[in-house]
Amino acid sequence: MEMNIALLKGDGIGPEIVDSAVCVLEKIGEKFGHKFNFTPYLIGGCAIDAVGEPLPKETVEGCLAADSVLLGAVGGPKWDTLPGNMRPEKALLGIRAAMELYTNLRPAKLYPALKDDCPLRADIAKDGFDILIVRELTGGIYFGDRGYREGKYGEEAYDTECYSRFEIERIARAAFEAAKLRRCNVISIDKANVLESSRLWRKTVHEIAEEYPEVTCTDMLVDNAAMQLVKNPSQFDVIVTSNMFGDILSDEASQITGSIGMLASSSLGDTKRGLYEPIHGSAPDIAGQNKANPIATILSAAMMLRYAFSLEAEAKCIEDAVDAVLEAGIRTADIAKDGKSIGTKEMTAEILKRI
Ligand code: NAD
Repeated sequence: MEMNIALLKGDGIGPEIVDSAVCVLEKIGEKFGHKFNFTPYLIGGCAIDAVGEPLPKETVEGCLAADSVLLGAVGGPKWDTLPGNMRPEKALLGIRAAMELYTNLRPAKLYPALKDDCPLRADIAKDGFDILIVRELTGGIYFGDRGYREGKYGEEAYDTECYSRFEIERIARAAFEAAKLRRCNVISIDKANVLESSRLWRKTVHEIAEEYPEVTCTDMLVDNAAMQLVKNPSQFDVIVTSNMFGDILSDEASQITGSIGMLASSSLGDTKRGLYEPIHGSAPDIAGQNKANPIATILSAAMMLRYAFSLEAEAKCIEDAVDAVLEAGIRTADIAKDGKSIGTKEMTAEILKRI
């Protein structure tokens, strides 16, 4: 296959970790006979510095024309005092909207080799866990009616949770499709005992479940889900949930893995193209020092191979190489235990060796 990939390196550690992922993709290309063409575009603070805006038109056009997009991270103290619409982070919302990405896939996996980094009790962490949170990204309370008004006690503010059947159907399908590539189990999370929007959510998810008889589907209330994630995380395979519940639960799930530098994510729309990025930010405190853990971005590239290009063996090859590096006790500083660590480039080289 020949694939055109737009690279949005961004700010801080963004360029270092995206360069690592590019090396890994090139190695995969050599091994499996694929050609990846990479085109870099400006986004975030570096775009503000170069052309005066965080999301230039050329970047949007380049991403829309590409087969897939790999993003590092944006932002940093240099741009923190700019007005809201000129902030680097604004570019993230802009590019997701321009690409019409409504599904956010957030894996949270506890690697056996990193069990000691897990903040949960040893008897809970002992079996590890491998969860995929499918979060609806463009609907719900973050995008609903909002405003200020005079109420019984004077000034009040409100936000509205609203979901259409259409929005729930498409996110449910995304979750069932993802489950088919995993352990075929979906838990849909809502607050159907209180919220009308959750009752439509639950009903619609079960209607879509009938199209996927090979996948089991159950419901869980969001308050229980928050508890179950720390009590018994290994019960979860795929979680599907709304924008706000997914925002909160995916951060909770990332914390129980113990390490922010290991977690990939992707945002998908109707086309398979998608935007692939680590969940962490631009880490300005370690930028340019060869200290960043490149694994989250390398695993984001693996997700791209799996979801954008249906290259399962190639994705698995990267994931196995990461597993092997961790099993060998090789660590960047953020996941090192006994003070022994290597840099971004050296970690990338260790992963390349195992592909
Ligand atoms: P952060 O994720 O950048 O950093 C938090 C801590 O984790 C820091 O100590 C950092 O050194 C460490 N860290 C993060 N990624 C790491 C990696 N790969 N390897 C090793 N250590 C790593 O979060 P923050 O400090 O709150 O934000 C810094 C900047 O990033 C801000 O400008 C913020 O707005 C931006 N940000 C961007 C994104 C994005 O681009 N998607 C997401 C979150 C934050």
